Amino acid sequence: MKKDKLSHCATLITLLVCSLVTPAPSQVAQSPAGATIQTTTSSTPPRDERLWREALKIQRKSIVVDTHNDITGMMIDDGYDLGTSSIGKYHTDLARMKEGGLTAEFFSIYVDRKYAKDGGSARRALDQIDLVYRAAERYPDKMMMATSVADIRRAKKQDKIAALMGIEGGHAIENSLMALRDFYRLGVRYMTLTHNNTNDWADACCDTSRHNGLSDYGREVVREMNRLGMFVDVSHVSDKTMADALDISTAPVIASHSSARALNSHLRNIPDDLLRRIAKNGGVVMVNFYPVFIDQKALDANKERNERLKPQLDALNER
Ligand SMILES: [Zn+2]
Repeated sequence: MKKDKLSHCATLITLLVCSLVTPAPSQVAQSPAGATIQTTTSSTPPRDERLWREALKIQRKSIVVDTHNDITGMMIDDGYDLGTSSIGKYHTDLARMKEGGLTAEFFSIYVDRKYAKDGGSARRALDQIDLVYRAAERYPDKMMMATSVADIRRAKKQDKIAALMGIEGGHAIENSLMALRDFYRLGVRYMTLTHNNTNDWADACCDTSRHNGLSDYGREVVREMNRLGMFVDVSHVSDKTMADALDISTAPVIASHSSARALNSHLRNIPDDLLRRIAKNGGVVMVNFYPVFIDQKALDANKERNERLKPQLDALNER
């Protein structure tokens, strides 16, 4: 039954066409941290008004789910209130979610790697979960908490944003299946097995490999997520962790914010063989429009800049 629930949910997930919410000569992209970046290019052709209206009509009729939004980080660190305009500051607020035709948002419960080192990972996650609930309490006419497909449909009917949550960084459970179950009870419906850091049971894309993919305990975590009905999210994990998760998961696996490695060599992107396996598994890959993930030139320029500025950055870090 859990598996069916997840499959159903996966079929409902459609790509959020971010560009629909912004003026024509702009392009919108998501950074690795999830903050949206807006760029303007002089070469963008003028908008076809008829097509634009058609696209908006389809967008407004559809159930549109965005599977990863890091605005929660701004809510906790900057005290940002989701119901106020964030124009010029961030790229998400309730008014613009509605204007863009969004039905459901997965608020990212992102836990930085520093908490894995210093302690407090679960507490950091709990505090962000509280803030999502508090926003829903503050704006009951605009958003509602959601933990199921039925809730998302209800939100659509009531013209509200369905607020869902996904933990980003498996270290948030502090190696405890009890904590994992508690997070599920609080409404968390996916967990990204790692962030960019390898944790005690899973290797990450962009860190040293310690487990050759998933450890035995990592496999147990995946099995428990399956049993609970929590999506296994493979964005940020190493290729081997991804393959291991696909080997053992009995439910569709998602990549909440990843792009294609064949088009751009960034390690955060997914190689073709694994993309095919995710499709076969009934999962979905939600494309991340961060330029460094989709444009090889942007990635190369980024690498070159990081190498060039490394001495300065190292010096700053030492202070
Ligand atoms: Zn991420």
